[in-house]
Amino acid sequence: MKKETQLEGLDQLEHYEKKIYEQKQLLEISKALNSNLEYNILIDAILNICLAQLQTLNAAIFLPPEVESDHLVLDISPKGFDITDKVKEKQLKFDSPLLNSFLEKPKAITIQQLNLIGMGDDDYVRYFKELGAEILIPLCAKNRVNGLLVLGEKMTMGEYIDSEKEFLTILASLAGVAVENARLYELATVDMMTQLKIHHYFQSKLREEMDRCRKKGTKLALLFTDVDKFKVFNDTHGHQAGDVVLIEVAKKLINSARKNDLAARYGGEEFCVVMPGASLQEGYEMGEKIRIAVESTLVQNPNGGDPLKVTISVGVTEFLPNDKNNKEIIERADKALYQAKHGGRNQTVCFKTT
Ligand code: GH3
Ligand code: MG
Ligand code: MG
Repeated sequence: MKKETQLEGLDQLEHYEKKIYEQKQLLEISKALNSNLEYNILIDAILNICLAQLQTLNAAIFLPPEVESDHLVLDISPKGFDITDKVKEKQLKFDSPLLNSFLEKPKAITIQQLNLIGMGDDDYVRYFKELGAEILIPLCAKNRVNGLLVLGEKMTMGEYIDSEKEFLTILASLAGVAVENARLYELATVDMMTQLKIHHYFQSKLREEMDRCRKKGTKLALLFTDVDKFKVFNDTHGHQAGDVVLIEVAKKLINSARKNDLAARYGGEEFCVVMPGASLQEGYEMGEKIRIAVESTLVQNPNGGDPLKVTISVGVTEFLPNDKNNKEIIERADKALYQAKHGGRNQTVCFKTT
């Protein structure tokens, strides 16, 4: 009798230890998610946590493509699933039976459970079956569904058990808030018209990256771009056409920038790129890439008539160990830009002391 009680006690202890371990893990996950406001990195972190914790090879997340969207779409970085164009284009409407059911019951649910409650033939459930999904977990924040996490079958081929569903439901509630925060942060730091990062964000990122250069001895290149004769352009074609051109120029910066580069709107028609790890020569090559891309772009004229063309000038400089703050490196990039203007525009110039 005594032995049995002892055993029960040990079982219970093990049970509590397991619970504490799980809670510690969730706390770590919560910290990891909340310390990250960059959207893409956050989504990657959520998916990687799922892969590691649930022993599945397939994970994807569906999010609203824009702030006021009435639907969710597959986010750009799914793991493992076979993604066809049909899968990519699917819009999951918030007012659909499936997403509405999540609002009432924001919990992880398996495809098997959906079959059992008679939703197996729902259009969206069939879509998830085709994708190879096994379990769906809604992301919620402020009493709204703001995303959907989808996992494939487990490597063990077994079913998702209750404790895993519980884990996923808690993870999704943490992820829902983190995604909402990242979205608000993005809204606050991205220029609506060009989709480039705003000035303040640029200054803070440049400061951070220059600190890294000082500590680690790494390189950094900084580029400034400015549209040539843009006053005349605006006067000739109108401000609205000017805006369309700026959006196109910004796209060239965004598309040319490497993964860790930052493309920002310094102000007006002046844009910039911070290139961590890049040499002056790499900065120059990036400048030329963007300049040539802009030069060879025909922009549709919103007033009708012939397509529009502009060119840009680019100034490039690099981090120097004596740089104390942003001001000095920005001044050099600006001087190089000035030299490019004076050299005849539509060219990239690296900073020279003379
Ligand atoms: P330069 O080749 O020397 O750069 O000549 P510029 O005429 O482009 O001269 P500057 O760079 O000083 O001109 C800036 C112009 O950019 C003036 C302003 O009307 C225009 N601009 C700034 N922001 C915007 C914007 O958001 N939309 C439009 N359409 N124009 C803008
Ligand atoms: Mg200017
Ligand atoms: Mg200009």
